Amino acid sequence: MGSPCIIKKRWRYILFILEVFRPDISEYIKDGKLWVDPKTGKNIELCPWLTVVPSKGNDQQRVSCNIYQDRPDDCMIYPVSIAEMIKDGCEMLEPKDINNPQQAQKDLDELMADSRPDIGT
Ligand code: SF4
Repeated sequence: MGSPCIIKKRWRYILFILEVFRPDISEYIKDGKLWVDPKTGKNIELCPWLTVVPSKGNDQQRVSCNIYQDRPDDCMIYPVSIAEMIKDGCEMLEPKDINNPQQAQKDLDELMADSRPDIGT
């Protein structure tokens, strides 16, 4: 892990890139905090980039990220663990995950292999 100074520089760089290439995203960041309503300056409870995808036929309703390619690091590494998903009440959990959390964690680690470092579960 880098020193706080390096992290600050990296964060400033990311903000600069967003301001130049994705001002629509950067306006929702204030003082390093995600996500802030650009009009009121107040924190937004529900992510503004989350979209409900209309269901087709018998499909379940799905959610999608409108800035998936440019999503923040926190989003890239989430979820780290099934326990974290349970704690957050994540709607992506299925009954089979809750009934067999060890297997669910293995499946999650495989799914997230390209997005985050191995957490050693
Ligand atoms: S991945 Fe992040 S930015 Fe995208 S919808 Fe989810 S919380 Fe929002």
